[in-house]
Amino acid sequence: MTTGSVTTVFQHRFADELGELAVPWQAAEAPNPRLLLLNDELAVELGLDPEELNTPDGLRLLTGTRMPPGATPVAQAYAGHQFGGYSPRLGDGRALLIGELTDREGRLRDLHLKGSGRTPFSRGGDGLAAVGPMLREYVMGEAMHALGVPTTRALAVVATGRPVRRETVLPGAVLARVASSHLRVGTFQYAAATGDLGLLRRLADFAIERHHPTAALAEHPYRALFESVVVAQAELVARWMLLGFVHGVMNTDNMTISGETIDYGPCAFMEAFDPATVFSSIDTGGRYSYGNQPVAAEWNLARFAESLLPLLADDQDAAVALAVESLGRFAPTYSAAWSTGLRAKLGLSRAAGAVDEVDELAEQFVQFLRADRVDWTSGFRALGSAARGSAEPLRGLFLDLAGIDDWLARWLALAPDDSLLDRSNPLYIPRNHLVEDALDAATAGDLALVRQLVEVVRHPWTERPGLELYAAPAPEDFGRYTTYCGT
Ligand code: AMP
Ligand code: MG
Repeated sequence: MTTGSVTTVFQHRFADELGELAVPWQAAEAPNPRLLLLNDELAVELGLDPEELNTPDGLRLLTGTRMPPGATPVAQAYAGHQFGGYSPRLGDGRALLIGELTDREGRLRDLHLKGSGRTPFSRGGDGLAAVGPMLREYVMGEAMHALGVPTTRALAVVATGRPVRRETVLPGAVLARVASSHLRVGTFQYAAATGDLGLLRRLADFAIERHHPTAALAEHPYRALFESVVVAQAELVARWMLLGFVHGVMNTDNMTISGETIDYGPCAFMEAFDPATVFSSIDTGGRYSYGNQPVAAEWNLARFAESLLPLLADDQDAAVALAVESLGRFAPTYSAAWSTGLRAKLGLSRAAGAVDEVDELAEQFVQFLRADRVDWTSGFRALGSAARGSAEPLRGLFLDLAGIDDWLARWLALAPDDSLLDRSNPLYIPRNHLVEDALDAATAGDLALVRQLVEVVRHPWTERPGLELYAAPAPEDFGRYTTYCGT
């Protein structure tokens, strides 16, 4: 990939069409760039040559320090509700959108850098990122992708050679991230707050064309856009819930219009099942706890609706009524996705068992997990062996053996499908203690563990000998897991 050939690759649609939301900007120098992880598979998907990305020119592209001629990197403007409080101006304080690439399937994808230096949106921040959190985003995104969850993905993490001051001095890095776009609820909030209706309309049209093209055909395209996002987010959050994933910072600036998971900051997978599970050090009120995620998503979508009101109807009351009605699609869509997903997690096809009976079995299983604080992932995974006649691994997880035996008898009577069970319940997720070990080692210069972790989480469903460690929850002495934002 000579810099020349990249020229033809990048588009700058966001910068051109939504200039009011884009500040042309340059990345900070990276004194000594060194490739830590490169996503070969994703590079190829994007039509980029992995070998050429790992050359000095490739690393300059991945750190934003030399742009192909014609590329227009921009910092994107957005607003957002953070833990319920509105900030009118957030924006890319340590990130840049390099531009859009057309992937091998003809889809437009954003290439975005995180940790690329200060921008006009940095406020008090240094614009930088440390190696550990950027590798964390890489690992989590790959895991989610492999688990079938719509997500942004990391293309690469490059160490910059520049130290970053946090509680201690840490090695700095830039994450190159690929997303179907970086349009957020907060982007609409920002556009709406400008009072420029033309801008808001252009933004909505851009979002429709890029993510929800069928909305253009609807009688009311902007209302259809809203409903498409409501449905995409309801289905997304249901997937998180089925996997025990806790995003941790569901601010409106971290909710995409595309329906992809974005911004793996303080996220983590829940182990012992408890709806009140929170990992983020700052989420003291539990606003973004595991069990509160559907409510948080719906709240964010209400903020999205508010920003769209001027496009929904000329009359404010009429616009509000339409928005409320459309937001009403969240709850049934979420419930349907959750119960369909749970049915699959119990290995029951559509034909097996009446809906009420299956819903009740699922609810009871979840209650057993809760009562005995059983690891969510192992609890469901053990159903596969139980369906194949070996219930001991499952029974070994519970204290209430009489209860679980009674449940097993009723469940087995519905003839669960063991291959559906194994396809619906992952064996390998990024276990919190292993993520921490891998990131600590990488920060100290040894990448072996993080490379191994990425390989493991890329194939979550199929048991592989020798990886027992990766399938087990954290040892008792790991204690309560705390994660941090904005690092
Ligand atoms: P996040 O919590 O990562 O979604 O970020 C929220 C906001 O804080 C965004 O506007 C970020 O660009 C900004 N931000 C986070 N970390 C930094 C940093 N180190 N320097 C400047 N801005 C930052
Ligand atoms: Mg963010």
